[in-house]
Amino acid sequence: MIPRRPLLRLALVVLVAAGLVAGVRALRPVPDTRETLYLFGTLVEVEIHGTPEAEARAAIADVGAHLQTIHRDWHAWRPGLLEDLNAAIAAGRPFTVDDALARVLRQGRDLSCASGGLFDPAIGALVEAWGFHADTPPEGDPPPAATIAALVARHPRMTDLRIDGNVVRSTNPAVQLDLGAYAKGAALDLAAADLRAAGVSDAVLNAGGGVQVIGQHGARPWRVAIRDPFQWGVVAALSLRPGEALHTSGNYERFLEAGGVRFSHILDPRKGQPVQGIVSVSVLDTNGARADAAATALGVAGAQDWPAVAAAMGVGAVLVISDDGTMRATPAMRARLEPVSGGFPGPIEVMPLPEGVSPPACPPDPAPAPAPAPTPSP
Ligand code: AMP
Ligand code: MG
Repeated sequence: MIPRRPLLRLALVVLVAAGLVAGVRALRPVPDTRETLYLFGTLVEVEIHGTPEAEARAAIADVGAHLQTIHRDWHAWRPGLLEDLNAAIAAGRPFTVDDALARVLRQGRDLSCASGGLFDPAIGALVEAWGFHADTPPEGDPPPAATIAALVARHPRMTDLRIDGNVVRSTNPAVQLDLGAYAKGAALDLAAADLRAAGVSDAVLNAGGGVQVIGQHGARPWRVAIRDPFQWGVVAALSLRPGEALHTSGNYERFLEAGGVRFSHILDPRKGQPVQGIVSVSVLDTNGARADAAATALGVAGAQDWPAVAAAMGVGAVLVISDDGTMRATPAMRARLEPVSGGFPGPIEVMPLPEGVSPPACPPDPAPAPAPAPTPSP
């Protein structure tokens, strides 16, 4: 089901080699500042260019504190705000969340709706049933077919959510939120905004499978590479433009291995089953949450349908690698891919996106409650 080649946790590599940076350091008045943070089980490398070190370290410390809050509040299976919200949804109660969670849930609902439900963070109970609510890979047999069928039959969907200001309720108590498919992208969007607000003009945030840049690395762009899903190495490099994000979703990253078969952690919400066929999807966009959500959705869509889903989600630059090694890229992505060490690992087929695809209409938020009538003065 999934290639049995060396597994790679990180799908992206920042190519600004340490030696290269060190080599030019003496010429530069302000050295780069680098630090490693931790988010959702992944190391986040932050590199800042062109900001004095003390300011850069203070900005990274603030970003680190913000990411810790997000890590706690948005975690799918540890005590925190999201777990409390999930408990309230299961009990049929409305629940008040903070601004950040309300915003990311609205974003997730809209992206899910645009994907036709292929990206659907409401399927937390399915993800848990497959054993992926743990820091270590699941062991044992796949869940019983009847368990999966019963969960799918309850149709948990993001479009079941009603978000009224900061009050979240669900019309379906089977909704259990797991933001894992886009939280990293959304968190890097927020981290980049923090850095910009702190006056940082050039930086890269690299979190296994997701990278987000601000500005450039001096006179040249930040360069990153997309990892080869089959072996140690990269399939291509890209020069990111200021404000771009690149997210890769690999169905080889986390899996359940049972009876000689590997079951991916990316599930098709329509069947409750792990995806097959596509092993890696990379999406380049100016919005990290959308790139991350789309990378997951297109893997679920499969080789036939991913171009239409990409068009509906509004992402234009996509690279899809199938389990037989076939590489397909949209024209916008193909134009950005640069060969590394002499060439690409194989031919890259260019797949234009269909035109005139509009996303499905999403349910609007409830109208704001009318303002209380003024109390008549005596
Ligand atoms: P990613 O690596 O970004 O593709 O995210 C995969 C994670 O998202 C999984 O570990 C699950 O927690 C969750 N997930 C799996 N399948 C889906 C899906 N179809 N829609 C939304 N979230 C999913
Ligand atoms: Mg994703």
